Amino acid sequence: LVVLRDVDKHFGPLHVLQHIDLTVHRGEVVVIIGPSGSGKSTLCRTINRLETIDSGTITVDGKELPEEGRELARLRADVGMVFQSFNLFAHRTVLDNVTLGPIKAKGVKSSVAKTHARELLDRVGVGDQAAKLPAQLSGGQQQRVAIARALAMDPKVMLFDEPTSALDPEMINEVLDVMVGLARDGMTMLVVTHEMGFARSAAHRVVFMDGGQIVEEADPETFFTAPTSNRARDFLSKIL
Ligand code: ATP
Ligand code: MG
Repeated sequence: LVVLRDVDKHFGPLHVLQHIDLTVHRGEVVVIIGPSGSGKSTLCRTINRLETIDSGTITVDGKELPEEGRELARLRADVGMVFQSFNLFAHRTVLDNVTLGPIKAKGVKSSVAKTHARELLDRVGVGDQAAKLPAQLSGGQQQRVAIARALAMDPKVMLFDEPTSALDPEMINEVLDVMVGLARDGMTMLVVTHEMGFARSAAHRVVFMDGGQIVEEADPETFFTAPTSNRARDFLSKIL
């Protein structure tokens, strides 16, 4: 569903993505792990053209995203993104946060968008918070609203970039539980996370990045018990 072929990107002298080949199949959950600065966020951001690439190709459902324009906005809707910082619209209610995208970008009727938004908010467990402003919610609740907002666009794939890193420990699981539920429902997901429990239980595949390269890929069982590269072994010894 998402295919990156020989993707290269530089930030000035820094070769931040080096010959990245990565395929995420429909219904697959791929977890990306790796040290700070290895290019994980940049990789995610290239997939919906929040970052440009120098060379290579990226397709989502067979279509290459254009650099800009109307077509880009339309194709971007296929890729839902959830960040470490929740990025909700601070002056809009929770319900508005979830309906605005579909109404503005997809021309969905307000009543239809609202009904769908309420279903999604229920699904992520914050249905009773719809009338509040984001600041009135806990971090875990805000992140679940951010997930609902991304889902409201009916994406083909969901990208998560360290969605629980900014959360207090007691709120991490409520967000991971929602993500596990999505995975079970067959959502295609690319997840950057340090939550190895999630990687072990929900990932079909773990991709280890270091220094702008994909160093190793394996199913979680193999990766965590028998990593083949020194760099992955070294990384795992520090975090496990
Ligand atoms: P972390 O685990 O800390 O989030 P990461 O693997 O997500 O790290 P990236 O954010 O992708 O890493 O950054 C990769 C490298 O690119 C880092 O060295 C970073 O400093 C650099 N970088 C990221 N964004 C930019 C930018 N806009 N301009 C210049 N350099 C950047
Ligand atoms: Mg990052």
